[in-house]
Amino acid sequence: MPMTDDMQASDPGATPPPRFIGSEIYRHSSYGSWHPLRVPRVSTVMDLARSLGWLPPAQFITSPRAKPSALTGFHTPEYLSALQAAEAMQEVTEDVRQRHGLGTPSNPVFKEMYRRPATSAGASLLAGELLNHGGVIYSPAGGTHHGLPDRANGFCYLNDPVLAIQSLRRNGARRIAYVDIDAHHPDGVEYAFADDPDTLQISVHEENRWPRTGQIGNAGKGQVFNLPVASGLNDTEMRLILHDLILPLVADFGPDAIVLQCGADAVTEDPQSRLTLSNNAHWAVVAALRPLAPRYLVLGGGGYNPWSVGRLWTGVWAILNNYDIPDVLPPTAQGILGALTWAGPFRQHHPEPHWIATLRDVPRDGPIRDSVRANVRQLAGRRAVWR
Ligand SMILES: [Zn+2]
Repeated sequence: MPMTDDMQASDPGATPPPRFIGSEIYRHSSYGSWHPLRVPRVSTVMDLARSLGWLPPAQFITSPRAKPSALTGFHTPEYLSALQAAEAMQEVTEDVRQRHGLGTPSNPVFKEMYRRPATSAGASLLAGELLNHGGVIYSPAGGTHHGLPDRANGFCYLNDPVLAIQSLRRNGARRIAYVDIDAHHPDGVEYAFADDPDTLQISVHEENRWPRTGQIGNAGKGQVFNLPVASGLNDTEMRLILHDLILPLVADFGPDAIVLQCGADAVTEDPQSRLTLSNNAHWAVVAALRPLAPRYLVLGGGGYNPWSVGRLWTGVWAILNNYDIPDVLPPTAQGILGALTWAGPFRQHHPEPHWIATLRDVPRDGPIRDSVRANVRQLAGRRAVWR
């Protein structure tokens, strides 16, 4: 139930409603006509949530854009200067391309190549401050988990999850649980906190997929849990992973804050992975983690099918607010989804009817493979240290 002004006035100690940090910068921004990040994502979520009456102004915060000096907790001044210069010049030298990974097929020069990631990073930095007394914040533009200190990597120019964790820590959270259900391993986040026993890291990602890090044996200081999964991961397997690994680990760790990277590229319709979840699997993780810490920050991440990512991330906001997700969307919401286009270099993709009519996918249950069960058991066996 949304909180009214009356309720806030009569109960000043009540937890504030979840807040959504967004920006219009994402609406027309594209990495280029051939790049997977040419599709609209955050703007779809904002439009759908507003059309459904789920995003009143009181819950929306316009993301600030971080200054370079605010990003040096993780990134080098040299890299930040190169990134700003690349945006200004709209080109890079070969030296910059080699050293900083800018102007590559993955991380091309594009119009807002500093301003856009600095806006997502600004949201993550602000979230850490706003959560200092607890609460729930959603920043679907965040989750750029591949960014490295001195170079762009894997479509990510900055690493806003790392900056979020640092900000949460500056604002009173000591023990932080980072959970990542994107199809790709969060190599930048693991790099940042591999030696930090106060940052629990759990990642579920497709095995043998770029960046090919995140092996099950990488334990960090005992607080890193990597679960590589074979192609074809289904909802039933994800439920096992949630209840037998993720939730017990987070509960035993006892975090002051949870950061969930809720990338949307592990669903069947996404072109960047061969995992076959439905969005129900993601929503179950979002809901189940919420009671386990007083501060909860939910970020986006990957997601390259404009319909599946828009529907999944709008559903995340509904889950955080306890809204019922309608079986059939009203006409205005269907109109937003129906107006999306997904032009590829070779062909135009056409949506399936339920990508327009509904937010919720049909569940994709299936058998639990022995490898999934065995790897969950192996990792779960390592959590005894906190009991
Ligand atoms: Zn991904």
